[in-house]
Amino acid sequence: MTALVIAEHDHASIKPATLNTVTAALACGGEVHVLVAGANAAEAAKAAAQIAGVTKVIAADSPSLAENLAENVAAQVLAIAANYSHILFPSTANGKNVAPRVAAKLDVAQISDITKVDSPDTFERPIYAGNAIATVQSSDATKVITVRTTGFDAAAATGGSAAIETAEGVADSGKSSFVGREVTKSERPELTAAKIIVSGGRALGSAEKFQEVMAPLADKLNAGLGASRAAVDAGYAPNDWQVGQTGKIVAPQLYIAAGISGAIQHLAGMKDSKVIVAINKDEEAPIFSVADYGLVADLFVAVPELTNTL
Ligand SMILES: Cc1cc2nc3c(=O)[nH]c(=O)nc-3n(C[C@H](O)[C@H](O)[C@H](O)COP(=O)(O)OP(=O)(O)OC[C@H]3O[C@@H](n4cnc5c(N)ncnc54)[C@H](O)[C@@H]3O)c2cc1C
Repeated sequence: MTALVIAEHDHASIKPATLNTVTAALACGGEVHVLVAGANAAEAAKAAAQIAGVTKVIAADSPSLAENLAENVAAQVLAIAANYSHILFPSTANGKNVAPRVAAKLDVAQISDITKVDSPDTFERPIYAGNAIATVQSSDATKVITVRTTGFDAAAATGGSAAIETAEGVADSGKSSFVGREVTKSERPELTAAKIIVSGGRALGSAEKFQEVMAPLADKLNAGLGASRAAVDAGYAPNDWQVGQTGKIVAPQLYIAAGISGAIQHLAGMKDSKVIVAINKDEEAPIFSVADYGLVADLFVAVPELTNTL
């Protein structure tokens, strides 16, 4: 029984979501291999070989894999899939783009968004925006799994010494082509990797106030900036800051929510944070039910005070 983890990488380094996925793969009970499908990605393969617990890295290098096109990555996974009992992807935009293609081609049911491995064929996953946990058992020969990374600790990035094996890179599928990429550039930590997140809600009232009140606190704490969907829909914050069921799932060491009511769809994205601080002027706000520290206060007074005190 061997599990294959599909690495999330930028061809030079391994992204943190890979490390949590390795932990999930180790819990499946067998050996763990990592596929690094990229172009000129030798450095990423070397980094993958150092992940604790990984016994083999398969490096597939091809120009067809340069832009992470889902059709080509899926074909690369399928080329070696027969060797594996479990194929695990991080439940990121990339992983969720490739995994269903692999599952469909293997004619198996995808097991999505797992948060726990009970046994090699039984997994737990949140349903109803995290309000219930389903235990699912699969009798498929190959388990194709996406891993909710906040459910698993990160494997150590160093300490391993896996062998690196090269696999022939697949040819371009011709089904899609890379046109361009517009990447948001930010000095702040990326939300899903941030240790601290400062998040604002509809109460901020405008994009200007969001920046004026929330950004200095985030700067002081070297935190990522998040937002509720109401704040995003109102244009106070960009789309990729949204935390929640239809946004990003985060579990930082510290999550500070200011002017966020705590709707279940928001809680679904942040309630696994280690310490939650809520600032809300309504003492009945549901966010206080998950908060470790709650402050009933006007955020326009409390947040600047907090920023100045730090
Ligand atoms: C299918 C679906 C998916 C969804 N996905 C998401 C999602 O991914 N993420 C998400 O966040 N939401 C999501 N939502 C929306 C969610 O239901 C809520 O509408 C949203 O989270 C509310 O955002 P909010 O808390 O900022 O706004 P509100 O609910 O309007 O709350 C504002 C809060 O600010 C407080 N407040 C007001 N003024 C001040 C002040 N001066 N100082 C302090 N506190 C103040 C109020 O007491 C209130 O609690 C989804 C909804 C649906 C139906």
